[in-house]
Amino acid sequence: MAKYKDISNQRFGKLTPIKVTGKYYKWVVWQCKCDCGNIVEVPSNRLRNGEKKSCGCLREEYYENRLNNNIKKYQVDGTNIAYLKSKKLSKANKSGVRGVSQKKNGKWLAQIVFKRKSYNLGTYEKFEDAVKARKEAEEKLHKEFLKEIKHLG
Ligand SMILES: [Zn+2]
Repeated sequence: MAKYKDISNQRFGKLTPIKVTGKYYKWVVWQCKCDCGNIVEVPSNRLRNGEKKSCGCLREEYYENRLNNNIKKYQVDGTNIAYLKSKKLSKANKSGVRGVSQKKNGKWLAQIVFKRKSYNLGTYEKFEDAVKARKEAEEKLHKEFLKEIKHLG
């Protein structure tokens, strides 16, 4: 075993190095315990330069929180993101496709709701055309939403 700096029991974010593994990955690899209980092996340089602060759970938490915050933000804003995410149909929907409903005259109405606004996508003779209109609008809005999320960092 070459010489290495003893960093055992120091803290690097949520990670605490326990012991050297005997492995090398350019740097000596430490077995670390994460606060969440996971054991991971991390090269010492990645601990010291702050590249690795958890077993990966920190990153997951971060993304989850951000996603939740965004969802909350958008819900406050009036957009039901859950609705965009969910593939479930509302009980009132009988057409089998969200946002597409049959009018009394037998024609098909396509609609979409985004940021509390309901957009009329037109009335169609054919069910398929209404579905198509709805799908296209959905894609567009979904992209918009993703863009906004991205924009938020
Ligand atoms: Zn962890």
